[in-house]
Amino acid sequence: KGCLFLVPTPIGNLNDMTYRAVQTLQDADLVAAEDTRNTKNLLNHFEITTDLISFHEHNTAQRIPELVEKMNQGMNIAQVSDAGTPSISDPGKELVKAAIKAEIAVVPLPGATASTTALIASGISPQPFYFFGFLPRKGKERTEALVNLANREETTIVYESPYRVKKTLDDLSEKFGADRQITLARELTKLHEAFLRGSLADVIEYYQDNEPKGEYVLIIAGKPEVQSDTMSDGQIIQAVDRLIEA
Ligand code: SAM
Repeated sequence: KGCLFLVPTPIGNLNDMTYRAVQTLQDADLVAAEDTRNTKNLLNHFEITTDLISFHEHNTAQRIPELVEKMNQGMNIAQVSDAGTPSISDPGKELVKAAIKAEIAVVPLPGATASTTALIASGISPQPFYFFGFLPRKGKERTEALVNLANREETTIVYESPYRVKKTLDDLSEKFGADRQITLARELTKLHEAFLRGSLADVIEYYQDNEPKGEYVLIIAGKPEVQSDTMSDGQIIQAVDRLIEA
């Protein structure tokens, strides 16, 4: 049997392609790509000549049995998305499940992803963190997701398109409170990489005069914990009792 290699690709800066990623794509029998034209450019840049096949959210059902069959026959397939790590808010997870079910080895390569790249520069506690990905766009699903996130104590990672950043910041402020800390990481690894750090109120004010441009990751601080060293009334009374006894 062949293997399924999961190969991250750069999220902007082409120098973030790893040696192993280049080698794996070159050695594979076939590259399953979210957008074959996009990936063809990447392969050309690194002088990789492997054949491509499209694998995206609209042909998943049809492609999975084909790809599993090819791997069963001995082909090594490398799966890539347009940018970053496959399966992370990108196609891949269904193929991984199918490969596991067919007892095909799944080989993940570490590499670029916008999520942890944004997290480590955010200045907000990097763990525990909760990766959410894209928020539902509207309706009850969106409200429920926001209410759920607002109550989490972990740092939350959200992906957002520039067209919805402002609306999302308003919604976050409503559900999380305007004081909650946030970092917006924009255009990571690219020329216009920038970080905006502050409270939701601060960043909303900033975007009153500035239009969001480029790709964004939102890193939102967790719900402030109830201070564990704060005593409840009962504990204080007990502590005072102990003092009197002593
Ligand atoms: N698989 C990718 C990963 O591992 O990060 C994510 C793909 S998802 C379709 C695209 C979203 O990732 C964008 O809308 C944005 O939120 C985030 N993203 C991707 N590249 C980025 C970058 N260079 N800077 C900031 N955010 C980025």
